[in-house]
Amino acid sequence: MKLNINNTFSEELPSDPVLENSRRQVRNACFSYVTPKKTRNPEILHVSEEMRKSLGFSEEDVQSEEFLQIMTGNKVIEDTKPYAMHYGGHQFGNWAGQLGDGRAINLTEVIHNSKRWAIQLKGAGETPYSRNADGLAVLRSSIREYLCSEAMYHLGVPTTRALSLAITGDQVLRDILYNGNAAYEKGAIVCRVAPSFVRFGNFEILAAHGDHKNLKLLADYTIKYFYPEIKESGKDAYVKLLSEVSKRSLRMVIDWQRVGFVHGVMNTDNMSILGLTIDYGPYGWLEDYDLGWTPNTTDRQFKRYKFGTQPELVLWNLYQLANALYPLIEDIDPIENVLNQYQEAYKLEYIDMMLAKIGIFTNHEKDDLYVNELQELLQLVETDMTIFFRNLANHKKGNSVQGIEIVYDALYNHNDLTDDLKRRWNAWFLKYDTRLEDEVLEDDERKKKMNTINPKYVLRNYMAQLAIDDADKGDYNLINVLYQMLKKPYDEQPEYDKWFVKRPDWARNKIGCSMLSCSS
Ligand code: AMP
Ligand code: MG
Repeated sequence: MKLNINNTFSEELPSDPVLENSRRQVRNACFSYVTPKKTRNPEILHVSEEMRKSLGFSEEDVQSEEFLQIMTGNKVIEDTKPYAMHYGGHQFGNWAGQLGDGRAINLTEVIHNSKRWAIQLKGAGETPYSRNADGLAVLRSSIREYLCSEAMYHLGVPTTRALSLAITGDQVLRDILYNGNAAYEKGAIVCRVAPSFVRFGNFEILAAHGDHKNLKLLADYTIKYFYPEIKESGKDAYVKLLSEVSKRSLRMVIDWQRVGFVHGVMNTDNMSILGLTIDYGPYGWLEDYDLGWTPNTTDRQFKRYKFGTQPELVLWNLYQLANALYPLIEDIDPIENVLNQYQEAYKLEYIDMMLAKIGIFTNHEKDDLYVNELQELLQLVETDMTIFFRNLANHKKGNSVQGIEIVYDALYNHNDLTDDLKRRWNAWFLKYDTRLEDEVLEDDERKKKMNTINPKYVLRNYMAQLAIDDADKGDYNLINVLYQMLKKPYDEQPEYDKWFVKRPDWARNKIGCSMLSCSS
């Protein structure tokens, strides 16, 4: 197995001088060295073909004993020193102090085909940042992360990736609903991959400690390797960094709104400095279109991270990043500019994205109205987001009465289609049809283009749960079926038609489907 090892984070940034693996408050350092925990009886369940190739592993490599042992914590890659990152964060709106990689351990960085990748194991045991937890991950949450991060990549959403999914052979105790019913579950490890796992929280913790020297080192490091286009120097460079991060984060969240992804825990420790979707925990996919929906039961009371407010929460998180970078900038005006620009851009890009979803590609001044009215209609009764937008591409110009059929197929309860609702939808489709007159694309071309924007297949919550239920019984086949299908989410793939359906009724209020906790 030949990897092109090229460590920068641990080579160029300060390490915690304490080497023992004990929980502690770390100061003046960006990471702590720590070795993954040994696992009893590991088994690889799945390897991502695309990621294997991207990292330069051969087919034989990933089937080797060495690969198995490395990806499950039993062997350290030659000439590398694994480490856990030091970060803090704002959780649910409050400063939480030190968090850090409590159960993720970075193995190394590699370069392949001129691309840099950091490789880390999630669920690989305790670190100095584990606080009162065990550093482990269970199979159910690992399947969810593994499948979803790869699915997001194929949907074109910026995201961290996954190389492999393994079970450890160890048992892990979890209380899923935090109600005193703890039970043992299968332990698992996902090998995650990204150009870098640096988060907003890595900057925040240094700023909170007044460690401006290392704050500057980390910012310079981030620019050097991940934002080489920034040519400014001094404070201008850090303003530019904030601005670029805000643009990338906006792109990410607009994509979430496009495909119906709800992250569930948008704390600043879960915000990638590269604008990648990171930390797949109690996330969920929107089924009936509801701007107020969150899958996270821990957030049920205030619904801070509900679908409709995600773009605003990104902005809130950018404020925290701005605060953390302030000591390097010491000037409020350019920072405010960046944050104001986000707000402006967000409104425009959101409308553009929604218009693209309905096949309107040339802008008119009053186009917001279509979007607002549509969002209102979609929320009157339970209407499936994915099915509605996918089927809307079948609309033919000059045939507005057909609209009701499209709505009907997306309704969860057909009795909901009252005369009043019909009238309202008919009125919308009539306007929509008139508006389409101004579009240059013909029906077929419009459909083709819409089908590259509105996915046919997403990882609905119940699908992941079915794969989990099978896996708990030792049957891992569905993981691969879903993985293969989700590689081409925009293609028709008639062989997978049975997955282009509304959420089945049994999944409506089921734990793992509509209700997820942070227990993972
Ligand atoms: P999250 O919001 O789930 O991404 O995690 C918040 C913090 O809790 C991070 O610092 C994680 O590393 C840590 N954490 C979550 N689960 C565990 C666990 N099982 N053991 C140790 N630390 C954990
Ligand atoms: Mg996290």
